[in-house]
Amino acid sequence: MWCAIILAGGSGSRMGAGCNKVLLPLNGVSIIRRSVRAFLPFVEHIVLVSREEDMPDMAAEMAQDGLQVSIVPGGASRQESVWRGLQALPEACDYVMIHDGARCMIDGDTIARCIASAKACGTGVAAVAVTDTIKQVNGQEQAIHTPDRSTLRAVQTPQAFHLPLILRAHQHAMQEQFLGTDDASLVEHLGETVQLVEGNRRNIKMTTPEDMAVAEAFLQDSPAFPILRVGQGYDVHRLVEGRDLILCGVTVPHTLGLLGHSDADVALHALMDAMLGAMALGDIGKHFPDTDERYRGISSMTLLHHVVALLKEHHARVTNCDVTIIAQKPKLLPYIPQMRENVAKALSLPVERVNIKATTTERLGFEGEEKGITAQAICMVQEG
Ligand code: MG
Repeated sequence: MWCAIILAGGSGSRMGAGCNKVLLPLNGVSIIRRSVRAFLPFVEHIVLVSREEDMPDMAAEMAQDGLQVSIVPGGASRQESVWRGLQALPEACDYVMIHDGARCMIDGDTIARCIASAKACGTGVAAVAVTDTIKQVNGQEQAIHTPDRSTLRAVQTPQAFHLPLILRAHQHAMQEQFLGTDDASLVEHLGETVQLVEGNRRNIKMTTPEDMAVAEAFLQDSPAFPILRVGQGYDVHRLVEGRDLILCGVTVPHTLGLLGHSDADVALHALMDAMLGAMALGDIGKHFPDTDERYRGISSMTLLHHVVALLKEHHARVTNCDVTIIAQKPKLLPYIPQMRENVAKALSLPVERVNIKATTTERLGFEGEEKGITAQAICMVQEG
C-alpha cells in the first residue's frame, strides 16, 4: 500500500501573506489542494501535517474536494513533523512519499518515477541538475570552494521510501540528534543508498510572491480546474427463483433473485458501466466477459474494485455517483444506507457523494411485472 505525507506546516513568512502560504489560491485553487490532488491517483491514503492553528482551514480545503485525508499536527521542526506524519500512517502502508505541500506544481510523471525507483531499490528522490555554479562561502561571504557543478543536484520532493527504511532513518537520526533538511539525508546518515530520479524544473517550491507569478505563468497552458468527465450506465437482469437478490453488495431478502454469470448485482453493473463510460474504456462485458470462468459467481464488489483500480491507472477517480434501481418488489428503502456505504467505501468517497434511489414502474413493463430489475447510473470522473 502506497501512502503520502504532505507537509503543510510552515508559516510562510517569506511570502508575506499573513497566513499559511499553502492556503493561498493559485489560479483559483489553493496550493495545498493542488498538492494533494496531484497524489490522489497514486496513493491509498494521504496524511496532511499542519500547524495546529491551521487544521480547521486545512480540513475546510480538503472538504471542498470531498477528500478523506488525515490531518495531524506538526512538530517544532520539519523532521519532527514528518515523524508525526509517519506515526499517523495506516498499518497496511508499506511505501510512503514525503512531499512539501508548497510544491504544488508537482507532475504525475515525476511522482511515477519516484514510485518506480522506490519499488525497485527502496528509495526514489526527485532531483534536477544544477545550472548555476555553486560556491561554498565562509562567514565573511567569501568564496572558499567551487564544487564541480556536474556532480551537483538540486533535490526536490516527492521523496519516496520503503516504509521500514525511512522509519529506521528517522529513529536513528533522533537517537543521534541529527537534523537533516530533507528525509533523504536521514537515509544517507544511516549509511544507506539514496537513489535520485529525474525531477521537473516546474516543480518549484512556493516560497516568495515571485514563485507564485512563475507558477501562474506555467499554469497558463493548463486548465485552471481538473478535467471532469461524465459517464452513464444501464443494465437489466432477469428475476428467477433460487437465486439471491444482491444489490450494491447487499443481500436483500426476497423470494426471487437476479440471474447472471456473476452475482448479477445489476446496480453495480450499471455503476461500473458509467465509470468505464466516463473514461471511454468500453463496458464491463469487455473487461469481464461472461464466457470467462474466472467471473462465474464472482461478487460484483470485487469487479468494482477492479474498475476503481483501472480508473486509477488512467489517473482518474469518481467524484460522485447517482444510481437508480427500478424494481416493483421488494421495498429497498431499508437497505439503501448500507448500499451507499458499500459503494462509498469501494470508491473511497464520503457517503454524501453517493446517491442510491429506488423506484417502481407502477406495475408497468417487465419491471412492473416482476420479471426483472433494471438499474441506471451516472457518475462524474475527475481526471488528473
Ligand atoms: Mg449485468
